[in-house]
Amino acid sequence: MTTRMKVLQKLDSVKDPEIPSVSVVDLGIIYDVKVDEGNVEVEAMPTFSGCPALDIIKRDIKEAIEAIEGITSVEVKYIREPIWTTDRVTERGKVQLKDYGIAPPEERSGDEWRVPCPYCDSVYTTMDNIFGPAACRSILYCKSCKNPFEAMKPVAI
Ligand SMILES: [Zn+2]
Repeated sequence: MTTRMKVLQKLDSVKDPEIPSVSVVDLGIIYDVKVDEGNVEVEAMPTFSGCPALDIIKRDIKEAIEAIEGITSVEVKYIREPIWTTDRVTERGKVQLKDYGIAPPEERSGDEWRVPCPYCDSVYTTMDNIFGPAACRSILYCKSCKNPFEAMKPVAI
C-alpha cells in the first residue's frame, strides 16, 4: 500500500468533532494529500470560516497521520480556493449525517431550500433559526412530525 493510501485510510478515522459520526473524508474536507517520502502535506477545505472546530480537525488530522510508521513531518493547511460546498459530502457521509439526526444537504431548487426531515422524510419543513449551535449548521423545524432538527447549510457562505 502506498503512503498516500495509508494516509487516506487513516483520515477515514478522523471525525468532525461536532459531527462525530462522519469522517473528514466523507465530509469532503480533504482536498489533496501530497506525499514526499516521509513528508506529508494535507490541503483541507474549511467547511465554514467561523467554525471553531477547524483547529481541532487540523490537530486531529496531524496526529492521525503522525501515527503512521515512516512519517517524519506533517503539515495541514486550509486552502481558500476552491470553496467547500455540501456537494462534496459523499453518499456515505449523507447517510451518516442522517443517522446522526442532521439533515444531509439537499439540492437547491432556485432560492428555495428543500431539506427533508431526518425523522419522517417530510419536506414540509421550515427554517427556524439560521444560526445553529455551530455556524455551519442551521436549525429547521418539521411541520409534519413537529421535531426540530439540524441541517447543514447547502453552501458555505
Ligand atoms: Zn419530520
